[in-house]
Amino acid sequence: MARLVMKFGGTSVADMDRIAHVAARVKREVDAGHQVAVVVSAMAGTTNQLVAWTNQAAKMPDRREYDVVVATGEQVTSGLLALALQDIGVPARSWMGWQLPITSSDAHGSARILDIDGKVLEAGFARGEVAVIAGFQGLAPGGRVSTLGRGGSDTSAVAVAAAIKADRCDIFTDVDGVYTTDPRIVEKARKLDRITYEEMLEMASQGARVLQTRSVELAMVHNVRVQVLSSFEDKPGTLVCDEGEIVEQEVVSGIAYSKDEAKLTLLRVADQPGVAASIFGPLADANVNVDMIVQNVSEDGTSTDITFTVGRADLDRTVQVIGALQTKLNYRQLLHDANVVKVSVIGVGMRSHAGVATRMFTALAEKGINIQVISTSEIKISVLIAADYTELAVRALHTAFGLDSE
Ligand code: ADP
Ligand code: ASP
Ligand code: MG
Repeated sequence: MARLVMKFGGTSVADMDRIAHVAARVKREVDAGHQVAVVVSAMAGTTNQLVAWTNQAAKMPDRREYDVVVATGEQVTSGLLALALQDIGVPARSWMGWQLPITSSDAHGSARILDIDGKVLEAGFARGEVAVIAGFQGLAPGGRVSTLGRGGSDTSAVAVAAAIKADRCDIFTDVDGVYTTDPRIVEKARKLDRITYEEMLEMASQGARVLQTRSVELAMVHNVRVQVLSSFEDKPGTLVCDEGEIVEQEVVSGIAYSKDEAKLTLLRVADQPGVAASIFGPLADANVNVDMIVQNVSEDGTSTDITFTVGRADLDRTVQVIGALQTKLNYRQLLHDANVVKVSVIGVGMRSHAGVATRMFTALAEKGINIQVISTSEIKISVLIAADYTELAVRALHTAFGLDSE
């Protein structure tokens, strides 16, 4: 007997037929004698609709009320799946985030899970009951409903798996695993049988939305075995695991892209101690996450240009914050551009192989693609380029690093 967490994403519970299919899939595991906790997302498209409504109701929606609205999609699917399971003879009950509870921070809209007490779920298992948990939801201090950020059901699933010490956490989605890059834009993308936690973490944080970044962080910390697989086909997916479990390691395992970027440049800021702190301090206070940063060498020793990137959704707020600093910083101009994309090549093999950057820059140059900003970590290189070149760049890099399927 094993203990399993099965998570089904939006397209996997998109309508009543799909929900019936999921119920049958869960029943198979129950019939095999396993204890099962299911985590569901909202039906595909529902969360977007709910978000759109909050934006129609108010210019700057209060984040707590935003959460009350957007958390509802998962309430519907968890109830429906519990009903569908009962209908085929599987004892099941639904659980909202606040009922378990899944306690979270008060960062409404992208709250962090603080704790899940697995005992409630274990008591359910003892009664022979499948738990159907609404993903994406948390309980914030003060008893308020919170949500875990877009794609957050993945994180709910991994957190539940850690809390009940599940043998595996299966993430069922609309692709049959993690690919070398988004299979929807590169036909020659290859499915990976295994990927390391570290690489998956970089892939996710650089834009591959197949798993929410925090879910991979949690899996890594709690050593949860995560498998990404299709809810439409019956075949093994991709296992996210430790480096030691992977026999053949490529230098570059994957390519990710993120369209959720905006670039800002401050022209002619003073080149003296404390300036960077007075730019990025107020941004941090305003909860703006800054990603890439470059500062040019000062030509005249008195002033310089600073370029940085933020999430596209934060662009207006960033312009406001930096605009308010004009008198203090006395910069000449603030330029901004949301028409950019970040493309990253990722691989633990980079630690031991030289020449990855050169190969990346050459491949982009051959396609006439200009690089605006570069940033690196131990296992990834990212470049910022004009958004129009996204697909061309991802395909060229995929070929250049020998990732194309035959
Ligand atoms: P779900 O609703 O099941 O959570 P998501 O839409 O959040 O599904 O994530 C699955 C999608 O992630 C796929 O349809 C695919 O387009 C995208 N994706 C991006 N990069 C990758 C990748 N490297 N491998 C697999 N899928 C990827
Ligand atoms: N329904 C939420 C979203 O669309 C959470 C999830 O799907 O993981 O972001
Ligand atoms: Mg998702």
